[in-house]
Amino acid sequence: MKWIDLRSDTLTLPTPKMRKAMAEADLGDDVYGEDPTINRLQEMAAEKLGKEAGLFIPSGTMGNLTAVLTHCGRGDEVIMGDHGHTFLYEAGGISALGGVHPHTIPNQPDGTLLIDDIKNAIRGVDFHFPPSKLLILENTHNKCGGVSISRDKMMKMVRPARDAGLKVHLDGARIFNAAVDQGVPVSELVEMVDSVTFCLSKGLCAPVGSVLCGSEVFIENARRIRKQLGGGMRQAGVLAAAGIVALEEMVDRLAEDHTHARQLAEGLSEIDGIRLDKGSPNTNMVYIEVDSSLDISAEVCAARLMKLGVKAGITGPRHFRMVCHYWVLDEDIPVIIAAFKSALVQS
Ligand SMILES: *Cc1c(COP(=O)(O)O)cnc(C)c1O
Repeated sequence: MKWIDLRSDTLTLPTPKMRKAMAEADLGDDVYGEDPTINRLQEMAAEKLGKEAGLFIPSGTMGNLTAVLTHCGRGDEVIMGDHGHTFLYEAGGISALGGVHPHTIPNQPDGTLLIDDIKNAIRGVDFHFPPSKLLILENTHNKCGGVSISRDKMMKMVRPARDAGLKVHLDGARIFNAAVDQGVPVSELVEMVDSVTFCLSKGLCAPVGSVLCGSEVFIENARRIRKQLGGGMRQAGVLAAAGIVALEEMVDRLAEDHTHARQLAEGLSEIDGIRLDKGSPNTNMVYIEVDSSLDISAEVCAARLMKLGVKAGITGPRHFRMVCHYWVLDEDIPVIIAAFKSALVQS
């Protein structure tokens, strides 16, 4: 059966061109700094983001952890949104492995943090307090519906942190989706932060990897932390080769995923009993709720969809998240909408 898999853009398989580039990649030992393909990917990534240097990391989670441990020592405090990926979905790594104390403030529906909340979270100098060292932002904001945050809003959130001497890290797992959504160069969305991670393995379709970017000094320190975490890889140019194709060929086409998300949202919203979540769709994500009058749980609905070849992500008792990506095609959109209609009619 040909699946239409909407559970996440992490499910994307490498493109044929990526597989070819992987097979033919020039390789060396990257712990010695001698893998030419990794070096090229890191340079390309840094250049695109307008940062001095980049570091290839096995995952986005390790990228954020590496960044936090590079910016902070044990007992330091990090300010972040309560819907942030680093707070919710990274297994508490910053605390477990780094002794770093998370200080959460509420994410607003548009993915931002309130300026006053940031200001109030920053600690004064007092030996009773953990020192505030870092602010983490996220763009696009996953849990807030895939919303993309403007440069202007980013600048406003960064300012109070900067003024108080904090560093700023951006979890930019899907920062290219934000840039394409806003029609701006990605460098404009990350210029104001000290460090940024982005994922090659989501909408950009590479099988594995993220890149952490920042100043040369920061990346030099981050290289030691990555080694501590066991993330020093050897001939990982086979992976970086796919990452290079991702950066060269897969960025601009993210606009197609955004179009598909809009088409999908439009079609689904016309079905009786389906409501789009407030603000949805954003970038490549559609969040919906099935009305309680239909008396059908997300599990039952998902099982019926599966029989029709559609996999949707369950995010609550009646809630779904659907993520559009390279392997979701134009002709799949009406198939998904029809599958939902049929799944709900059976109830
Ligand atoms: C996926 C994701 C990550 C982590 O990436 P992994 O490669 O899955 O570890 C970090 N932040 C956000 C916002 C993500 O969506």
